[in-house]
Amino acid sequence: MHHLLTLEHMPRAMLEHLLVRAQDLAADAEGGVARRHVLAGKAVCTLFFEPSTRTRSSFSLAAQRLGADLLNFDASTASTTKGEADLDTLKTLEAMGVHAFVVRHKRDGAVAELAAAANPGTVLLNAGDGRSNHPTQGLLDMLTLRQAKGEDFAKLRIVIVGDVKHSRVARSDLHALRALGCGEIRVCGPAALLPEDGTLDGCVVSHDFDAAIEGVDAAMMLRLQRERMAEGLVASLEDYHRDFGLDAARLRRAAPEAIVMHPGPMNRGIEITDEVADGPQSRVLRQVANGVAVRMAVLEALLG
Ligand code: ASP
Repeated sequence: MHHLLTLEHMPRAMLEHLLVRAQDLAADAEGGVARRHVLAGKAVCTLFFEPSTRTRSSFSLAAQRLGADLLNFDASTASTTKGEADLDTLKTLEAMGVHAFVVRHKRDGAVAELAAAANPGTVLLNAGDGRSNHPTQGLLDMLTLRQAKGEDFAKLRIVIVGDVKHSRVARSDLHALRALGCGEIRVCGPAALLPEDGTLDGCVVSHDFDAAIEGVDAAMMLRLQRERMAEGLVASLEDYHRDFGLDAARLRRAAPEAIVMHPGPMNRGIEITDEVADGPQSRVLRQVANGVAVRMAVLEALLG
């Protein structure tokens, strides 16, 4: 693996290796074990052409915990606003000696294009491109599931709920869940927000959340991308909440120890109620914590 662009077709053994390594690194961090020698002398740049809270901060922390020099490039205040091409920006930073770029872009495939044009030794990590891929989110979600439910994904029943059509998180989760042999993957949402392009092959697709959540071990909620309201894909927030929002009553239909996940940012009161988001079954902050560990494991594997 030279770059991390997608989890699609990543071999199961590689996925599992990264998850095990992330778990070890998380334990080291908790135990105060320093890992600052791993990337000493390497320069990592976060290059974000789209907003981010969790992904950017956790990549930054991960790089610093491994001892890398860190450059945070904010495309909203830089020469990109003067029309500089994305590739020129990358080449400029490459010339300064940056070894790895963590890139988020609103266009599908943009990170892969930059990877193809970068110098041979440069490493690209996809931090989310369009609706296509968000591989480190997929990994941190798998780590969260593994911690809660164990290594054997074959016995798991999972439901992914909401705006799958526009979600790079859902796509990366699906790639990883399939590779790890998840027993049953259910996908639930309004018909207008479910893709019809083969993304859901092998999944049990439903528009009835009460039925789809029955007996599951984990509910993976997605952000309702409110920008879709303008496109008329969702009738109203009230309707969406009634049909696809996760509240405590619905959660009782899941398996007793079921966990609830959400990649953030959450629309509280729309796809998830406060009671569930902050309740005992929520793993939302665990996902955030795992994000740092997973990003350390990935940076170490690609640059260490
Ligand atoms: N933060 C995630 C992403 O960048 C999920 C979301 O925005 O809904 O894809």
